[in-house]
Amino acid sequence: MIGSFHPPQRILMGPGPSDVSPRVLAAMGRPTIGHLDPAFVGMMDEMKTLLQYAFQTKNELVMPVSAPGSAGMETCFVNLVEPGDKVIVCQNGVFGGRMKENVERCGGIAVMVMDDWGNAVDANKVEDTLKANPDAKILAFVHAETSTGAQSDAKILCALAQKYNVLTIVDAVTSLGGTPIKVDEWGIDAIYSGSQKCLSCTPGLSPISFSARAMDVVKSRKTKIQSWFLDLTLVTAYWGNAAKRTYHHTAPINALYGLHEALVMLQEEGLENAWARHQHHHLELKKGLEALGLRFVVKEQDRLPQLNSVYIPDGVDDAAARKSLLEDYGLEIGAGLGAMAGKIWRIGLMGHAANERNVNICLTALEDVMS
Ligand SMILES: *Cc1c(COP(=O)(O)O)cnc(C)c1O
Repeated sequence: MIGSFHPPQRILMGPGPSDVSPRVLAAMGRPTIGHLDPAFVGMMDEMKTLLQYAFQTKNELVMPVSAPGSAGMETCFVNLVEPGDKVIVCQNGVFGGRMKENVERCGGIAVMVMDDWGNAVDANKVEDTLKANPDAKILAFVHAETSTGAQSDAKILCALAQKYNVLTIVDAVTSLGGTPIKVDEWGIDAIYSGSQKCLSCTPGLSPISFSARAMDVVKSRKTKIQSWFLDLTLVTAYWGNAAKRTYHHTAPINALYGLHEALVMLQEEGLENAWARHQHHHLELKKGLEALGLRFVVKEQDRLPQLNSVYIPDGVDDAAARKSLLEDYGLEIGAGLGAMAGKIWRIGLMGHAANERNVNICLTALEDVMS
């Protein structure tokens, strides 16, 4: 007979999921109630206020999609892109490629702005592309490219989008809670994130927000949104109107308790303090990694504090080293993705995992497995 599953205790310093706080896990173990129970509806209202804080927005549409970050990405594209629409997509790693795939599956035309893996998105190239494509409807880019550890300047890219009068879709899966995101100040129209990176919740939820301008575009579409589940005009019957919530799908009740708790913790710490904590531990980790002779993939000014990618030194066996980290130290770090597979390690310092103890364990363990 198969018994209960008891996972090993790990230290999660990869590209996500990150270490989940015991407070979040405890919240998720609380009694399941109905998804239209007045107590639950009250929790949903709090969740929206907490998400508005995390995203720094007053947008009315702010909610967690009941699925992982990829579904948040898809929500942005299926709602905003109609067949024939031109979308400028910036690609400097894995996730920009998924944006292109989304545009094309919506029947849109993706105009690509390509940058080398490990580089930030080049704003000059974006401006040239906006100039050359006056009929473009949307500019889409990844703020924090988790496949390489590069951060692009979302503020400048959004300012360009406004100058050329296009909407923005911003991937903030790895940035939210780890580095500054200011939805209203920067004029972001559609943004999505994930629960399991710098928010340090369990995977499976994707906070999103749409500006009023973006929602007007959604509501005035000529064609039907091809995804029933992700159609925001339908899902807002549940998430949108606090006075009268009606059934759309059964919300993942206990998972939402977890996200609520993670956001309460973020509020207690303060966003600015959370950003500073990520930066502080990044600098400590950087010092140690450089002392071990490891070289960063990304130029200093474009580095993400929460995702440190370094080249694997010559003579070190990638798979064997990561196996030893996992088995001997209970430590998970990330392998390289796509073109970077076998060449780099990605060391996450996300959310609850960004702490001094983890930095020290990671450096000790790496020194051991590399020798
Ligand atoms: C992790 C990640 C995603 C996808 O999120 P899932 O929760 O794995 O679906 C999308 N974009 C970026 C930048 C990510 O890091």
